Formats: sequence, structure tokens, C-alpha cells
Amino acid sequence: MKITTHLFDLPLRDPFTIARGTATSQPTMIVELSDGNFTGYGEATSNDFYAASIPTMLQDLRQVQQVLPTLKWDTPETLWDLLDPMLGHNRFAQAALDMAAYDLWGKKLGKPVWQLLGLNPQAGPQSCYTLGIDTRDTMLRKMQAMPGWPIYKIKCGTPNDLETIRFLRTHTTATFRVDANCGWKPEQVVPMATELKQLGVEFIEQPLPVEHWSDMAQLKPQSPLPLMADESCPVQASVERCAAGFHAINIKLVKCGGVTPARRMIEIARQLGLKIMVGCMTESSIGISAAAQLKPLLDFADLDGAVLLKEDLADGVRVEKGQIELTDKPGNGVSLKHNLEHLRIPTAS
Ligand code: MG
Repeated sequence: MKITTHLFDLPLRDPFTIARGTATSQPTMIVELSDGNFTGYGEATSNDFYAASIPTMLQDLRQVQQVLPTLKWDTPETLWDLLDPMLGHNRFAQAALDMAAYDLWGKKLGKPVWQLLGLNPQAGPQSCYTLGIDTRDTMLRKMQAMPGWPIYKIKCGTPNDLETIRFLRTHTTATFRVDANCGWKPEQVVPMATELKQLGVEFIEQPLPVEHWSDMAQLKPQSPLPLMADESCPVQASVERCAAGFHAINIKLVKCGGVTPARRMIEIARQLGLKIMVGCMTESSIGISAAAQLKPLLDFADLDGAVLLKEDLADGVRVEKGQIELTDKPGNGVSLKHNLEHLRIPTAS
């Protein structure tokens, strides 16, 4: 059993701005897990907010490679549990390996992961398309460049959030959702939610910085719109705490450590009466296709990461005009494209 890593820098379709900053390209690590006959693929992007750096991911996976041939596992979940003591401090690397393990598992058994999990590929929500922060005219141009999506997620956290959304509303009847990425103040939340409800917004993601637990607990019963935790809900242990201040959680594979903990988080969230979204980073179809296998279990999906790229590096689950198209291809249904050299990050060897 062998791990191989590849590093790429993925150019974005447009510069992408959220409350914390702007990106024009996204470094990412692709993990191959091979048993000699079949190869599974996983992915983790670098991410400053979650302190996920490519050098630390590579280093931790090199350590895992040392013990990997000695481990006995038949399902990705078994492998995840065996490696969690060693890799649990690096959720992004853990997620990339877990995605690859699911892909390999399905490819070996000749079945798609959704089928191995007993899920109905027709079930589950459509994805939104995300509009980063920009001038209102540029946001309109980006929205109109992606016509026909049923839902647009609008990044917020500027003094002009409400004006922008009012303006965009005059150009589409699509559902809106809003993501403040920790960019609002507590006193803004209820007035904003009241206005946004009138504007066809279905929920507000992460209005306040993570440490505002008691503010969120006060706001939850007052807010006319559901409040969703993203930055406040990184891992399995966060779910229960989020129930006091949020109506919903946004699970991302790289935040929590992969498909295995995401499935556990979904179970816990259901027991607590929380609604569930699976989201993504700006990532290729390798990561998106792993997350998409969970679509039938979700209330909401935000899996537009590969659509935000100028160039994808893999074939996999396609997300078109909100439709997440699960296929009958084995594993996560992914394969790397050829001729990726121009996207590769040079590495010292
Ligand atoms: Mg978010």
C-alpha cells in the first residue's frame, strides 16, 4: 500500500474574496493511495485560517507511509480509526487520505461509494454557486456568467451587504444564501436576518467570529432566518456545542478529517435536530467528488469548488446548474486528467 502526493496550484476563474481576504489561485495536494492494482485519489487544499500548510501535510503523510504496510483494514473507516492517533492533529492531510481510501475501496469492489453506503443517488439537495465579495456590478457579472443555478451563495462581511443583496435580487428569482465568514457584529444579526428574509435568503452562515458562543445562543431563538455554523463547526467534537447557537452546520471534509468523521457528524447532527450542509473549499473535482457521495444524506449542499476553477485537474462528479450528478463509476468516480504539468508546483527533491 503506497501513498504518492502531487502538488498543484489551481488558477481561479475570477479572483475570490471573502471577509478575510482575496485569492487568485489555490495550492492543493492530491493524494494517491495505491494497492498495486487500484489507485484511489484524495485532496486537501492549503488553508491559512485552519493552519493547513502543504509542507506539514506532506510530512505527516510521510510518517503514515512508514506504518501503512503493517496495518490491516478492510473499510476506510477502520483505516481512519487506526491512523487517527497519528494523523488527527492534521485534519486536512487526514481528509485527503480518507477520501483516497474511500475511492480505492470502491474501485476495488467495483462499486460507487454512494452505493456501498446504501444511499439513493437521486436523493439530496442541489448545490449553490458562490459569489465572492466584490463591487455589486462585478458580483452581478459573475452571477450572470453562471445563469440557471437555483441558489446563489453571497459572501458578506462588508458595510454594503444589504445594498448588494437588494441589487442582485432585482436581477434573479433564484434562492439566496448568505455567508458572513465571521464578519458581522452581534447586534447586526437579527436586523440583517429580518431584512434578508424579505429578500429570499434561506439561511445565514457564520455571522460572528467563532468565540461568540454566548451571543449565538442568545441569537438563535431570535433570528427569523436559520443560522449555520461553518468556522464554529470544524470537527466531530464541535457538533454538540453548535446545537446551542445554530440551527444548522456546514461540514467540510478537510475541516473534519474526511468522509469517515463527516458521516459521524451527520449522525450526531440529526440526533440534535440540526440541519446539515456539506460544503467545500475552492478545490478540484477530486475533493468535490468525495464530498458528493454524501449528497443523499444532506439538507443543503455547497459543492461548487471545482466550478470556481479556471481549470480542473480531474474528471469526476459534475456539478452543473446546481445538479450534483452522481455516477455509477466505482469509488468516488474520479480520475486525474493528463497533461497537468503546467499546474504543478515545483518541489525540491
Ligand atoms: Mg462558510
